[in-house]
Amino acid sequence: MHLQGQHLQGQHILSVEQFSLADINTLFTTAEKLELVAKGVVTTKILDGAILANLFFEASTRTRMSFHSAFARLGGDICDTTGFSFSSISKGESLADTAQVISEYADVIVMRHPEQGAVADFAQHATVPVINGGDGPGEHPTQALLDLYTITRHFNQTNQPVDGATIALSGDLKHGRTVHSLAKLLARYQQITFHFIAPDSLQMPPAIIDWLAAKGHRVHCFPRPEQGLPDADVIYCTRIQKERFNAEQLDATPDESQLFSINQTIINRYAKPSAIILHPLPRDSRDGAFDLSTDLDADPRLQIFTQAANGIPVRMALFVHCLGLQDLVGHDFAPAPWAQSKSAPKKPAPQKPAPQKPAPQKPAPQKPAPQR
Ligand code: ASP
Repeated sequence: MHLQGQHLQGQHILSVEQFSLADINTLFTTAEKLELVAKGVVTTKILDGAILANLFFEASTRTRMSFHSAFARLGGDICDTTGFSFSSISKGESLADTAQVISEYADVIVMRHPEQGAVADFAQHATVPVINGGDGPGEHPTQALLDLYTITRHFNQTNQPVDGATIALSGDLKHGRTVHSLAKLLARYQQITFHFIAPDSLQMPPAIIDWLAAKGHRVHCFPRPEQGLPDADVIYCTRIQKERFNAEQLDATPDESQLFSINQTIINRYAKPSAIILHPLPRDSRDGAFDLSTDLDADPRLQIFTQAANGIPVRMALFVHCLGLQDLVGHDFAPAPWAQSKSAPKKPAPQKPAPQKPAPQKPAPQKPAPQR
């Protein structure tokens, strides 16, 4: 199932394995053209009249809202449903029926589902493009695209090729769908060295390790960050996906001595000064969590908020290509009337002092009358 260059039109987007390097470059070129729309500096109506159905059956903040925001910024409308309890699936409706019905209501569907493969099953019955917004521990293709967009933009600025890069992925690599998709997407490049940093029980699935190795990439698995961080050009951290542990795995949860957080001390000690630190978010910021520490927030290597913002232009580009509108991008760009107020200072502008009444003039001192 290989898509070529410009041929994303009408396709379901289910796995990163669909994208060739040409597809990725085409998408990223469109995403760059849409940057100012994404930031609300210019407007477009390219999707005027189109409807997105945003179906999220698992928790989401960024993915759901950024798909919504991307479609709305392109001039389209959105209808959505979140959670099973508010959907007819809770009344026993099959995914097949839901897919056929929603296809009549919308021009494109984004779906997140807790079961691996469920979005692909749903897509088989849909007659409009379906985009996988995350299927259980399976894949999260649009997250991987925005991660790669962040990486390639950074590497372009520093004149570094992606070919030959060392990429460290850490955290829960077993259940984290973002790392599954990102590793597979990076495999499109040449001679990548992957450092997978996780306790044994949360290591990258062997099928993915073997697949990467068969494509000629170097793969090293490490249990500790101090072993896997040195030499990494990208450090991609993830949270422990406890919600995906089944009863058996809960017993097999690594003891805390095997878990780690990536914090300023570790980064200062083991990471390259030129590395960038990414995370798909949300990160677990509670005390004692084994995740990316907030003590890194002032470190310029931390790019997590730029990365999250990049979700908008990348998802816009995907909509534009899936709906075959890429040639129209830019034709109707107009300055956003609110753009100026967006860049205005956040603090209220200092008030001009109220005009004061002129102070009553003192009578000019009179020259004493000459004494005669
Ligand atoms: N937001 C990402 C996802 O949906 C990462 C996470 O939840 O940890 O997979």
